[in-house]
Amino acid sequence: MKNKKECEIVQDLLVNYADGILNQESKKLVEKHLSECEECREKLKFIQEDIKEKNSKEQIELDYLKKIRLKTKIKSILLALVIIFLIFFILFLNKFIKINSLMNRAEKSLQSSNFYKETTEILFDNQTKIKKEYFKDNKYKFVTEIYSDDGVETNLIEYADIDSDERIYIYEKDKKAVIEKGDISEIKNDINNIKYVPFITDRDNLFAKVGTTFVYSINTDTFDYGKEYYIFKNKTENNIWEIWIDKETGLPIKEINRGGNKIFFTGTNVIKEVRDNIQEYKYEFNKVTDEDVHVPDLSNYTVENKIMNMKDMVKK
Ligand SMILES: [Zn+2]
Repeated sequence: MKNKKECEIVQDLLVNYADGILNQESKKLVEKHLSECEECREKLKFIQEDIKEKNSKEQIELDYLKKIRLKTKIKSILLALVIIFLIFFILFLNKFIKINSLMNRAEKSLQSSNFYKETTEILFDNQTKIKKEYFKDNKYKFVTEIYSDDGVETNLIEYADIDSDERIYIYEKDKKAVIEKGDISEIKNDINNIKYVPFITDRDNLFAKVGTTFVYSINTDTFDYGKEYYIFKNKTENNIWEIWIDKETGLPIKEINRGGNKIFFTGTNVIKEVRDNIQEYKYEFNKVTDEDVHVPDLSNYTVENKIMNMKDMVKK
């Protein structure tokens, strides 16, 4: 007969035995008893199955927790991406709205039937070129002047009626006038070309506007013009192109092509000097008089009549 007392002792130890945490001595004692006692072996089996079940339950719980944690991780990464995208989208939208409203303002400014535009361009050799454009009630005059230390020289004066096919060129110095007719004049006299202003040309094209929004960075400044303007900057591989836009009129004040002018030592490709290409713009509204756009009496000039068409140009 088995000792009932021994069974009790062994059974108390069985859970720890199954868990493998008994010391060597107790383990031997238990194993010895198990080899002789059927009842305790049965008990052990129960305990082992119980532990197994518990373990697999724990494993399932653990797996579940891991899954949840992974899901949370993915969720927070996605959320971060969405937030980043939203921030970029809002910034982009903000920029697009700014550009769009500037272009609309420029469009409005240019709807005037009386405007004066002056473009100043600093040339090499200590010269500055000034283009003066007068526009009033569909009549147009265009004057180019070159300034230097020797004074001012009027290069060329042009007259035209909007959308006509005739353009009059007056060379003051030579007392010569050329009356040019043809489709080339017609293109030049197109209202969009007469009222051409850089930057706002994309105002009717949504894709171009979106492109502009992508390409340019925008900064605000007030320095040296006394009025607020935006600096639009476009960096390409070789140079930086800047355009300053008046906030009020939407029209450009200044264009700068940084490092746009390179001078080389004669006969070499060695750089002697690098300069910025700068054009400044000035606009005035409702100041052009009829006199400004009136074609002068040409009887004092040698007059030459010329027909110029696209197809003739191609033949040459
Ligand atoms: Zn026993």
